[in-house]
Amino acid sequence: MAKRLIFLGPPGAGKGTQAQILSENHQIPHVSTGDILRSAVAQQTPLGKQAQDYMNRGELVPDVLILNLIQDRLSYEDAVSGWILDGFPRNVNQAAFLEDLLAKLEQNADCVLNLEVPDEVLVGRLLARKRKDDNESTIRRRLEVYHQDTVPVINFYQQREILQTIDGNQTMTEVTQSLSEAIS
Ligand code: AMP
Repeated sequence: MAKRLIFLGPPGAGKGTQAQILSENHQIPHVSTGDILRSAVAQQTPLGKQAQDYMNRGELVPDVLILNLIQDRLSYEDAVSGWILDGFPRNVNQAAFLEDLLAKLEQNADCVLNLEVPDEVLVGRLLARKRKDDNESTIRRRLEVYHQDTVPVINFYQQREILQTIDGNQTMTEVTQSLSEAIS
């Protein structure tokens, strides 16, 4: 079974939920840059203070803040034999950085799972979620940023022939099932 997985997909596609389920079922750490940043904001660490305005506006946090964070996290002991990345890479620069980092760590991403959900379904899901950055104007900006910066990452992995697209507009259980088949 594939143990180094990257989740792609727009905000609200279900990446976090599904990554958490796979992480528990397969005993691999779930690495969510959004969760790491939210916890840094809650604790008002230097990273959190620098990141919070970007997050509240629905913009990406500058790469310089994210790249060190992911490099550190992937060098933890628990990430040696696998990981699920959720929310990273978010643009082509981050994807290229990850490729170099993995080469240094003598690792490869086994599989990139792209969860597809139509925009109109996403807005409804996000508005129901009630996270701090889930108000209507921020949601719209996050979707724009996704189309502008993150969709090119799909292309990046398509060229490397490790991309699998999954229909995220199914029930939670059906999506979990499709993902399990894709990585088996
Ligand atoms: P998420 O929980 O993945 O939707 O992330 C919430 C917010 O955290 C995003 O809207 C960004 O502001 C920030 N963020 C999370 N991951 C990244 C990343 N890889 N690069 C830049 N910003 C990020």
